[in-house]
Amino acid sequence: MAKLKYLDLREAVIDTCLKMNEEGINQGTSGNVSVRTPEGFLMTASGIPYHKMKPEHVVEMDLGGGYVGEYLPSTEWRMHLDIFKNRPEAGAVVHTHSIYATALSCLRKDIPPFHYMIGIAGGTTLRCAKYAEYGTPELSKVMLAAMKDRQACLLANHGQIVFGPDLAKALWRAGEVETLCHQYWAALQAGKPVILTDKEMSTVLARFKTYGKQPGELKKGDAESVIGLVRRDLGKVRAARKKA
Ligand code: 13P
Ligand code: ZN
Repeated sequence: MAKLKYLDLREAVIDTCLKMNEEGINQGTSGNVSVRTPEGFLMTASGIPYHKMKPEHVVEMDLGGGYVGEYLPSTEWRMHLDIFKNRPEAGAVVHTHSIYATALSCLRKDIPPFHYMIGIAGGTTLRCAKYAEYGTPELSKVMLAAMKDRQACLLANHGQIVFGPDLAKALWRAGEVETLCHQYWAALQAGKPVILTDKEMSTVLARFKTYGKQPGELKKGDAESVIGLVRRDLGKVRAARKKA
């Protein structure tokens, strides 16, 4: 058999699928994962259990909706393709049927900023796309609308979909979406959650742009994600310790 193109990337896709199930944010063969390539993207095949998935089950696709090989891509290939086509910053896409995100998607409501971490969706809400049947162009259309200025959304009566610059970041975001939905559900059981204001969220969103970045990676004028820290001189600190 000819050597498979993008073997490492195919293995990274399978690894992401396995982690998705290990982390408990997906179920059985539901959900799907893709990663961008110079020619298009690599898409998990449809309906193959992840523990049985081999590199050849990760299907090469182009941005015109074409695929090569023996296996059919995921039924949701169009949502993945439309994200890669419309969102140049997307390097990988993860779709799952995680329990709490799916449960809340059945309410067909946007999740408000009850917690500042809602900012990981890219704005002040985690939107819920209108209902459309799985695998249809209509679903892709309503998903893209809900994804405007966002990197995550719920899909009504279905689940969640997110993207990131790479597979690790996309998987992380899917886990965060599930945690937020779990927390929101718990808060609703306990009472009426107080929702953060636009003003409160605006500073959070500004700081989220640099969250996880070290000083060397920050550009002039970037908001600092860590507030009020004083950097000590290591030499002086050591000298003071010696004296003590
Ligand atoms: P596939 O197995 O075709 O990827 O479908 C799973 C799914 O989640 C459909 O919405
Ligand atoms: Zn699905």
